[in-house]
Amino acid sequence: MSQESVLVVGSIAFDDLEMPQGTFEGVLGGAATYSALAASVLAPVRVVGVVGDDFPGQHIELLQSRGIDTAGIERVSGKTFRWRGRYSKDLNSRTTLDTQLNVFADFRPKIPASYRSSPYVLLGNIHPALQLDVVNQIERPRLVAADTMNFWISGEPKVLGELLKKVDLLIINDEEARELTGIQNLTKAAADIRKRGPKELIVKRGEHGALLFDGHGTFFVPAYPLEEVNDPTGAGDSFAGGLLGYLAKVGGPGASPHAMRRAMFYAAAMGSFCVEAIGPKRIQELTRAQLDVRLESFRALVDFGGSLTLS
Ligand code: AMP
Repeated sequence: MSQESVLVVGSIAFDDLEMPQGTFEGVLGGAATYSALAASVLAPVRVVGVVGDDFPGQHIELLQSRGIDTAGIERVSGKTFRWRGRYSKDLNSRTTLDTQLNVFADFRPKIPASYRSSPYVLLGNIHPALQLDVVNQIERPRLVAADTMNFWISGEPKVLGELLKKVDLLIINDEEARELTGIQNLTKAAADIRKRGPKELIVKRGEHGALLFDGHGTFFVPAYPLEEVNDPTGAGDSFAGGLLGYLAKVGGPGASPHAMRRAMFYAAAMGSFCVEAIGPKRIQELTRAQLDVRLESFRALVDFGGSLTLS
């Protein structure tokens, strides 16, 4: 198995979470945090992000304790990015109540020289011009994956279009796929997006699973059915982290015809662990053995015996 690294670039945050079961203030969050913690269960991880001088050293130590290289986390004077969200009773929708960019407003990702040869790159949801800038700082990556959001799709369509040309794998949700293309039918929207650059496209559908569109066709992974769902924050980022962690471990999407499809299960398993606890608590203590148990349950969930032919 390979020991190739995943480079994660994105937000590191304090989250204030208004959940049906109560409010949780100043929870460690941010897309890069969730993705890095998830990927670190499977592969060596490097993070590039920014925090303020209010960010506790123990959070950095937590990342390091998971083997994550934090040399790319810049600490600058000011406050750390802060996001406040309120979830609906069924946890299926959320409203952003407040976004304080703070030190994140001037974030210009600087990729340390030792990170520039990273073969797997995960560009978290930041300004597409910054995502493009990161891609240009990396030497011949094997796979560049990116996330984005409605805000950039409507606000920065041109630069997002430039970015898409340099992205191998785009990971977005169904609403974003529709907004990006103006096409309601997801299969048609996916074909349109794949013509713009990314040869692999994943469309996440929350508790309804995720679809992969690539050169081999369309593939679906369900969301793992859980009895206890506490906090969906970061599930998408954990999904992406699990996906890239697996691909780095096995040698990339081209390692076998089924590598991307298997990666979808690692991704969905990681998303399922994420939602079990408030903040990243569950994925920050997750072991390989626990992951393996869930993957086996996942396999059983979709196992129909291998053939649908009547005989
Ligand atoms: P997700 O639930 O996967 O959408 O990710 C939630 C994480 O994204 C939270 O921990 C937030 O701190 C972070 N976040 C929220 N808004 C933004 C934003 N505008 N830019 C970057 N990260 C954000």
